[in-house]
Amino acid sequence: MKILTVSDHESKYIWDYFDRERFKDIDLVISCGDLKPKYLSFLVTMIHVPLIYVHGNHDDRYERTPPEGCMSIEDQLYIHNGVRILGLGGSYRYNDGKNQYTEDAMLRRVKKLRKQLRKHNGFDILVTHSPAYGLGDGEDLPHRGFNCFNDLLDQYKPSYYIHGHQHLNYNRQQKRITQHNETTIVNAYEYYIFNYMHNRYAYDAKKNRKGYLASLRGNDFY
Ligand SMILES: [Zn+2]
Repeated sequence: MKILTVSDHESKYIWDYFDRERFKDIDLVISCGDLKPKYLSFLVTMIHVPLIYVHGNHDDRYERTPPEGCMSIEDQLYIHNGVRILGLGGSYRYNDGKNQYTEDAMLRRVKKLRKQLRKHNGFDILVTHSPAYGLGDGEDLPHRGFNCFNDLLDQYKPSYYIHGHQHLNYNRQQKRITQHNETTIVNAYEYYIFNYMHNRYAYDAKKNRKGYLASLRGNDFY
């Protein structure tokens, strides 16, 4: 399965000089946010495959103008050709924007997904706007990563974690791809194409049930 990921910055290469040949074998488009609704609609029209997205902190505009023909996977486990994709958009809270969350608020969203995660034995791809804490995030509040994303990675060991928000041109240390244990982390800034390959880790909800419930009990703010 070939995936096109996009985020944060409209690519001139795609937008102004669209080359159908280049994208003819793409199976799925994933947007990690902060992109104009028009751009996403353009992609789904030109590429003719499902386009799924989460919101960036600059996407409050989607409420008035949702990207036509595209599908939000916010707070959902979306399954595409057997690949389980978990969507959690938004950034760390720094003003009154709708797509901004405190660590506690993001954790509450994660906890609401736990039944689905148990039912489907985890997930294969985590899609967020903001990075996880310390894994390609920034030092200022708006770019701070979420700790509960680290917990998702550590517990479920998905094959991929795709995020945006921290632009690759912010500084030279930003990397497109990093490996975190079993998970390949992709910063989707502008665009990136990859062939999905499962990491062969099989999360077993029955085996892990005890550990997960114990970890939830450790949090007293839910
Ligand atoms: Zn952002």
